[in-house]
Order: sequence, then structure tokens, then C-alpha cells
Amino acid sequence: MKGSCLCGAVTYEARGKVGAPAACHCTQCRKQSGHVWASAYLEDGTLDIAGEVRWFRSSDKARRGFCPTCGSALFWTHDDDPFTCFSTGSIDGPTGLRLRGHIHTAAKGDYYDIAGTEPQRED
Ligand SMILES: [Zn+2]
Ligand SMILES: [Zn+2]
Repeated sequence: MKGSCLCGAVTYEARGKVGAPAACHCTQCRKQSGHVWASAYLEDGTLDIAGEVRWFRSSDKARRGFCPTCGSALFWTHDDDPFTCFSTGSIDGPTGLRLRGHIHTAAKGDYYDIAGTEPQRED
């Protein structure tokens, strides 16, 4: 599975078993992405990133990686997790993935409803 930012300066390749992505409706994800952020992760394997990524510490436990040229939101990582999440929107071509659910729905925007049958979690 390969991915890239909007301008192409950052690319990545995920090799291994990809976990099903979740769509996050929290305030931080909505601020950074402009709407809703969905990301997948590797249950095992390696994520090789090429190009310059700028990291923003968005909380005392998590960092968000983005392309410094075009601003694409690409990565999210928690200090206690061994993996780096990558945005589903940055994956090139068909993903073969399905959302496992929606999280932090209590913080979602008031301008949309969540469609679909995937499970929803308020926190
Ligand atoms: Zn870029
Ligand atoms: Zn979030």
C-alpha cells in the first residue's frame, strides 16, 4: 500500500497487515483535516516514509505529521503506540479497506449527520 501528500513531496509505503481505519470526529482531527480524519495503521510490518515531514505535538501524548509544502495531514502517532497511523485520504489508488467505525462522535460538528451502519463511539 502506497500513499502520498497532495504535492507529492512526501510518499510512504506500508508493508504488512493494515488494520481497519476509524473515522475520528474529535475537535483536533476536524481542525487539522478540515472535516473528519480517518486513518489506518499497520498491525505488523513497516511504514517507510520518504520526504520531509513536519511533526506537530498536538497533545502531551500525540503528534501529527504533515507535509510542510502542501499541508496535507498524513500521520498521527501516540507516544505509547508502536505504530504510526496514516490518513486513508492519502492512500494512492483503491485501499481495499472498510471503516471499522466512528470515534469521538460526541465532539462532531453540528453541520452533518453520520451516515452508514458502522459502529459509533462517543469518546
Ligand atoms: Zn506535499
Ligand atoms: Zn481525532
